Amino acid sequence: MARIGFVGLGKMGAPMARNLLQAGHDVTGFDVVPAALSGFAAAGGTVAASAAAAASGAEFVVTMLPAGPQVRDAVLGPQGLAAASPAGAVLIDCSTIDVATAREVAAQCGRAALDAPVSGGTMGAEAATLTFMVGGPEEVYARAHPILSAMGRTLVHCGGAGAGQAAKACNNMMLAANMIITAEAMVLAEKLGLTHQALFEVASRSSGQSWALTSYCPVPGPVPASPANRGYAPGFSTALMAKDLGLAQAAAASVGLATPLGALAQSLYARFLEEGHGGLDFSAIIQLLRGGASAPG
Ligand code: NAD
Repeated sequence: MARIGFVGLGKMGAPMARNLLQAGHDVTGFDVVPAALSGFAAAGGTVAASAAAAASGAEFVVTMLPAGPQVRDAVLGPQGLAAASPAGAVLIDCSTIDVATAREVAAQCGRAALDAPVSGGTMGAEAATLTFMVGGPEEVYARAHPILSAMGRTLVHCGGAGAGQAAKACNNMMLAANMIITAEAMVLAEKLGLTHQALFEVASRSSGQSWALTSYCPVPGPVPASPANRGYAPGFSTALMAKDLGLAQAAAASVGLATPLGALAQSLYARFLEEGHGGLDFSAIIQLLRGGASAPG
């Protein structure tokens, strides 16, 4: 059993912290939103009055916050987690943030640190089946392994500081492009008089196959569990996909690399977000494509 401080008890953090409690760990949580704290207390967690108090005495400090600025402030800021935690503590940031901030925080926090973003969404967080992509020293990863295992099923050590965030950015850039081309093909099939089911039967067993097609098929019917069958309720929201594509483009720009499909995917999701669809699952991008979205100039 480990003493764990957990900061950020939102849609992902709350079930992750509950799974740590269920695994028998002593978890002290903090969130700026009082309702998040009462939910955590009801689940048997100990509530702290501040982030620093949650980190005090902790062997591991897990953060699950919205984005890079919140993580930098929470860890490095005045009253931050780095200074408040014991010298031997391990800081594990599970938020999805930019690679540069992840590296900056790891370099400046003065503690053993890992970036460990996740995929699997709120369902994976509830079921403790998340995939963790981890950046940081091998020996720190080994120490954190039992903690991460209590919240996830697949753990991949990707390399040094920032490597977890880099893997997440690359993966989600691939996912977005796969979803867009799958949706485009479904719309083209409609125009050509081909049923969605017929295209699915062929492509799911052929070289057009992808996770976007076989798990998150953007039209209702072929994959009953996909968000298209429930009005595109997420799932993985357009707002989060647009955020992750922005992080991928920032990462590409930081090394002077052009990623033409990644850039186009980002602009299409940004437009869909601006049109007010951030709360829909990212597979709803098919609606934009049906509307005849042209490539941005
Ligand atoms: P969320 O907004 O539900 O939760 C974030 C929580 O952090 C909120 O409860 C907020 O009050 C709290 N918070 C913000 N600033 C704080 C601070 N300074 N101190 C303490 N608490 C603070 O977001 P979420 O959906 O749980 O996502 C968290 C992270 O996980 C994001 O980086 C997101 O991109 C990533 N992620 C989310 C999903 C998903 O499906 N929701 C999937 C994979 C990754």
